[in-house]
Amino acid sequence: MTPPKKVVETNKLSRVFKNGEIEVRALSDVDMLINQGDFVAIMGASGSGKSTLLHIIGCLDRPTSGEYKLDDVVVNNLDKNQLADIRNQKIGFIFQSYNLLSRTTALENVELPLIYNRSGQFRNSKELAKKALDQVGLSDRIYHKTNELSGGEQQRVAIARALVNNPTLILADEPTGNLDSRSSFEIADLFVQLNNKGKTIVMITHEAEIAQFAKRMIFLRDGRILSDKPIEKRNTREQAFRELEKPVGFE
Ligand code: ADP
Ligand code: MG
Repeated sequence: MTPPKKVVETNKLSRVFKNGEIEVRALSDVDMLINQGDFVAIMGASGSGKSTLLHIIGCLDRPTSGEYKLDDVVVNNLDKNQLADIRNQKIGFIFQSYNLLSRTTALENVELPLIYNRSGQFRNSKELAKKALDQVGLSDRIYHKTNELSGGEQQRVAIARALVNNPTLILADEPTGNLDSRSSFEIADLFVQLNNKGKTIVMITHEAEIAQFAKRMIFLRDGRILSDKPIEKRNTREQAFRELEKPVGFE
């Protein structure tokens, strides 16, 4: 059997922030391996280093020390422009706050990163954007302005935008943080569907029911990995919805 392809490999990754005299050690000696097809949830208290780790994995930031290999290439030494190129090619980022242009259509929001891609390789940007919106179940909303869409729909647009250049790795920082429970489960289920089609996904969340849609859970505490375990009983959309329907206080 061929070994699984490594997507993310870190070796003693550390990140220290300096604010004048004060040093904050956000990450300490993080060793992590994520293979193609993984779906990893990252949990941990506020301030435990989750976003810092995701920013480094997503080439938005660099470690202070340690090594990071993305797709078997060492990237921790690259300069800002080189990191931006890698990010445009290989990373799809999703944020809690969607970060969409509000008076612009769903289609244009998804198409924009292709239009501004420095490689100039995406001539059929409209078609690709339509395909990505179809993948997230929004074919009937492509000409809606994003401020006319629900929160869950807006996050779907953001996911389509992250998918549109067919990245190696999808990274999501609290993607359901602004959503009600039902929309959150729909978004978690969408990640499961994308993962079933082969996408490698790393998702930060502080909600256990959302984390349990993933295949594996990494727990951070004070910038270190406290545990890294497969999820034995994964949550599903149906199960999560049934839990919501149970009367409160009824066992
Ligand atoms: P989490 O996402 O788990 O809430 P973060 O990765 O955002 O945690 O932050 C980890 C630690 O690093 C915190 O103590 C935070 O205050 C600090 N930190 C994060 N970003 C910066 C920054 N740009 N400058 C200074 N300190 C930062
Ligand atoms: Mg955070």
